[in-house]
Amino acid sequence: MAIALPGFANVHSHAFQRLLRGSVQRRDPQREDSFWTWRERMYALATSLDLDGIEAAARLCYAECLEAGYTAVGEFHYLHNREDGSPYPEWLATTYAHARAARQVGIRLSLLWTVYARGGFDAPLQPEQRRFGVPDLDTAKLALDALMPLADTGAVRVGLALHSVRAVPRDWLGPLAEEARRRGLPIHAHVSEQPREVAECRRHYGLSPVQLLRAEGVLGPDFTAVHATWLDDDDIEALARSRATVCLCPTTEGDLGDGIPPTAELHAAGIPLAIGSDSHAVIDPFAELRTAEYDARARTGCRCVLTDGSGDVGPALARIAHANGYDALGLPDGGDRVFLRDDARVFERVRDLLPVALLAGHPGLVERVDVAGQTVVEGGRHVLR
Ligand SMILES: [Zn+2]
Repeated sequence: MAIALPGFANVHSHAFQRLLRGSVQRRDPQREDSFWTWRERMYALATSLDLDGIEAAARLCYAECLEAGYTAVGEFHYLHNREDGSPYPEWLATTYAHARAARQVGIRLSLLWTVYARGGFDAPLQPEQRRFGVPDLDTAKLALDALMPLADTGAVRVGLALHSVRAVPRDWLGPLAEEARRRGLPIHAHVSEQPREVAECRRHYGLSPVQLLRAEGVLGPDFTAVHATWLDDDDIEALARSRATVCLCPTTEGDLGDGIPPTAELHAAGIPLAIGSDSHAVIDPFAELRTAEYDARARTGCRCVLTDGSGDVGPALARIAHANGYDALGLPDGGDRVFLRDDARVFERVRDLLPVALLAGHPGLVERVDVAGQTVVEGGRHVLR
């Protein structure tokens, strides 16, 4: 008998960044390493991959996601142009490459087509960012129109992502959110990942990133704020009022030294939480859940922070892992399941299996994974291996 769980949703992914793993764990002795120096290395990778390389990275990443128990992924996709920044002759070539990769390995995909238009609050796109660039609002609208047929093809859905308040001009935010809502698409954005972004946003607009998004009408129940690491009380209240979701990426936030989000406060405010493996330094939903809960404990000095009304950690983490994530990605439940080996030592002499599975589990326990009625992982290995 295996332990069956609803499939985990990986709400925030940049599949190509999986290729950085192992090559960014050494710092230049002459300077500090930070999010901003990591970003330089990420740009070097982003500008080096050809179309086949992008698709292969996505296939590798999504197969590893499935073997770890993720049955759905939200691809926050901004590698739109060719290596030199010029457009592909085939419109949306890299977007379709991700859809093909997801179909091949059998993971449910929400393709969050990302708008990225400038290099900073008052900086044009830098040469190494031209690959990500969307030239104008009309191009973004045309892209969403062009992608709508993809949105109807079984396991793939489409959404809109606003890269960040750094990379999207203020006067684009409202119109883009409106375009997404007109089409019934979920809206995601990186929000307040780094203190520098918050400080620059305040200096530029006199508002925090959350308050700016609220002022421009972006917040709502269909909106997901990714990271939400550096929030104040007003930000948390605005997110809660709008019934937005927050996607935590605890292993990436740890890897990049982003900071520890106010998870306890977000949960107490009734904000639905979800998880994502983001840069894929680690692909392990159990690690995301455990780190989210343990970081919240370390920050507050309290135990059992992410709980349901009866004080149970297990059901609350299960909701974060599955239902909140599927909702945030606009994906149907579809009966996707993960089966864990119940003969594993970790479950010996354990009565309440759910919190142990989610807090002490690991991808090595995943025996089988079913997505949309198909078994895609058997004996812990992807069936195409
Ligand atoms: Zn991200």
